[in-house]
Amino acid sequence: MRSSPERENDFIEPPSCPGGGPMKQRVIDELEKIVGKERMSTKIADLYVYGFDASIHHKNPDVIVKPANAREVSEIVKLANATRTPVVPRGAGTAMCGHTVPLKGGIIMDMTLMNKIKEVRVEDLYCVVEPGVIYDKLNAVLGKKGFWFPTTPGSGEACTIGGMVVTNASGMRAIKYGATRDYVLGLEVVMPTGEIIHTGTRTLKNSSGYQIDRLMVGSEGTLGIVTEITLKLAFKPKASAMTLAAFNSLQDAGRCVSNIIARPLMPSAIELMDSVCIKAVNKCMNVGLPDVAAICMIEVDGHPTAVEEELKIVEEIARQSGAVHTEASSDKKKIDYWTYARKAIMPALSRYGEKFVSVALADDMSVPISKIPEAVVAFQKIAEQNGVIVGTYGHSADGNLHTKMLVEPGSDDSWRRGEKAVGEIYDKVLELGGTVTGEHGVSITKAPYMKKERADSLETMRRIKKALDPKNIMNPGKIFDWDGNIIAHLRYPAFCESGGCMPSVKTCEGQDEQSAGGKQRRDIDPLVP
Ligand SMILES: Cc1cc2nc3c(=O)[nH]c(=O)nc-3n(C[C@H](O)[C@H](O)[C@H](O)COP(=O)(O)OP(=O)(O)OC[C@H]3O[C@@H](n4cnc5c(N)ncnc54)[C@H](O)[C@@H]3O)c2cc1C
Repeated sequence: MRSSPERENDFIEPPSCPGGGPMKQRVIDELEKIVGKERMSTKIADLYVYGFDASIHHKNPDVIVKPANAREVSEIVKLANATRTPVVPRGAGTAMCGHTVPLKGGIIMDMTLMNKIKEVRVEDLYCVVEPGVIYDKLNAVLGKKGFWFPTTPGSGEACTIGGMVVTNASGMRAIKYGATRDYVLGLEVVMPTGEIIHTGTRTLKNSSGYQIDRLMVGSEGTLGIVTEITLKLAFKPKASAMTLAAFNSLQDAGRCVSNIIARPLMPSAIELMDSVCIKAVNKCMNVGLPDVAAICMIEVDGHPTAVEEELKIVEEIARQSGAVHTEASSDKKKIDYWTYARKAIMPALSRYGEKFVSVALADDMSVPISKIPEAVVAFQKIAEQNGVIVGTYGHSADGNLHTKMLVEPGSDDSWRRGEKAVGEIYDKVLELGGTVTGEHGVSITKAPYMKKERADSLETMRRIKKALDPKNIMNPGKIFDWDGNIIAHLRYPAFCESGGCMPSVKTCEGQDEQSAGGKQRRDIDPLVP
């Protein structure tokens, strides 16, 4: 009955449209029949919270549901498909680019109750998990057996395996261990029609038809909902050690990275921090890192004898590359301390100056490794020319650099300068043969630049989306579907009230939101002060 054509006509308008009250209520009533009152919410406080992820964007959904199994997910999606209601799957909401912000309202499907580790088969080198399992929790279980899922995102304490799969998450150890896609053997997916399909296998090899699981990796919630994941396991290294190398020039630090990679030696991570990041963590976390232009933290892991030998080589290369100070250690406490300092960059930058917030605008581009020195120097220059503060750091061993920009949230001029700097950073990245996102994905913030990068494959992406989700219910308005700028749907009300929110998505009546009123944020988010 839920997917009957008569019903479909009843629900032809998205339920989040103004004036769509009765229709919305009918969808909500149907949802209650599927998950029950206790696993859904339309409370304004809940809607407000679920309107955020870790990005600069915000918009409220109409309803939040928490399914407990694939059957419920399928029922919800069938209802959404029949009623043309937008559905945005959500893991922990740590995405950086607006991925889980429900641009067109509708249903947020919170996957965190589906959090079982169903099977760990070390003899077959795989495990089967539900999408809501948290990365660190999975590794705590695998670690006891001497195995791990080594992609190491910085958000590992919070992010879910489902969120990682559909963003192809990775982290500081990608140079040696790869990204999430390298570990996905198979998936169970609820398609936009509600059909449940199984892709891939539980074997390490598989050439059996289209690799649909690969298509789902990086789909950012736009092609279906992942309800089960089979992951390949890796052996946990027996030992690891780290060298901290300090440089008086950012260029020397960049050169150190490519010099290490150019040797037949595989570090498990090289983390680079520029002076803005060093100052921020020293000031806010009091960690006492050397106050220099740049630091590299170089990790090696493997057999203890090899680790010892490689550590010496790494230290030598760092000195030859211009390091003014090096310190090597295999003491776990020391390594944890350095890693803590590195992980503290994001929160420290947020507390760098009274009037600033640290925002993820150009946050995770990748360049060919040999281009690191040129890239980091260019980013600093772009920041200076635009009068913005940019902290650069990253998993430089695989060419992945993060920049965080310090912006005055209420200042139109500050946002504009930031936006201009972002455009110039991305232009440089593309000129160097890189990509605008190596880790976090596209969603809203990267969409304008991803379109530049992938100009000749956009149409193919659109065709795939249309074939699988003809009613465009899955996370609509994102990636190639985004026709706005990056400074849109901001979570910072002062700027929006100055009229600064750029036109982006259409309202239900087809007006763009800017012309529907520059003060749109107040209408959308009643809790915005
Ligand atoms: C402090 C911090 C550090 C970070 N460090 C890293 C890092 O080192 N590397 C990195 O790659 N990322 C990093 N991120 C970004 C983010 O943590 C990752 O993208 C992560 O994979 C998102 O997981 P999540 O569970 O929070 O997903 P969410 O943010 O909830 O969702 C992400 C996307 O996945 C979709 N989605 C979620 N679950 C499902 C599902 N079951 N089926 C279909 N679609 C689904 C959503 O619709 C959305 O498009 C960081 C973020 C923060 C805040």
